[in-house]
Amino acid sequence: MAAYEVVALRAFADNYIWTIRDGSHAVVVDPGEAQPVIDYLKREKLTLAAILNTHHHADHVGGNAALLAYAPAPVFGPRDERIPEVSVRLADGQHFQLPHFDIDMETLEIPAHTRSHIAFVGGGMLFCGDTLFAAGCGRLFEGTPRQMHDSLTRLARLPDDTRVYCGHEYTLSNIKFARAAEPDNTLLPALEARMQALREKDLPTLPTTIAQEKATNPFVRVNAPGVIKTASARAGKTLSDPVSVLAEIRDWKNNF
Ligand code: ZN
Ligand code: FE
Repeated sequence: MAAYEVVALRAFADNYIWTIRDGSHAVVVDPGEAQPVIDYLKREKLTLAAILNTHHHADHVGGNAALLAYAPAPVFGPRDERIPEVSVRLADGQHFQLPHFDIDMETLEIPAHTRSHIAFVGGGMLFCGDTLFAAGCGRLFEGTPRQMHDSLTRLARLPDDTRVYCGHEYTLSNIKFARAAEPDNTLLPALEARMQALREKDLPTLPTTIAQEKATNPFVRVNAPGVIKTASARAGKTLSDPVSVLAEIRDWKNNF
């Protein structure tokens, strides 16, 4: 397999356009803006091999049209007419070869942030858009707490060392909330210090890993006694199922 690396291109205030590249080609995930991608392709003399879209929000697909006008390429994305540029519409469990790169990608349908949100898994990488963040999860715009719980549970079953590429740099504010949601999690202060040091150097805190999320993400840890305890205290009653815990802490985070 050809050697490749994954580079973070920045867009807007805190979006990442994850870019898989080797010496000649690039695949971009969720180009909310075209210009940062076009600048990068020109500077590095790369050919666009494909675009991947996780969900229809403008900060993830807004650059599709301008990017395709600059360099035609297949667009892999969900079965959702709200992304007109998608040329290969993917269903759950569907595999495809990433063009140019010799990587087998699998599609996972992970609704909750939006109803048609998908993730891409392959080559030890997960591109999960706005569903799973480092120490957090996306807002429930078109889904239920149960759907978010199911989607996060599916992602958490991936191998521990899977590198997790999230759509936004939200890690520090998420850890702040995670510390409130699970005050007895002794891993969180050290994680916060490590991530703060990266941000001070203006470096991404991503990718995270599935192992790290299972150890520190309160939305993944809805069965942990510490999370159940704080969620129950906020609800004013004992919450005995993971979906209710997730609903409670998601609502808490919205107002945190
Ligand atoms: Zn979104
Ligand atoms: Fe987003």
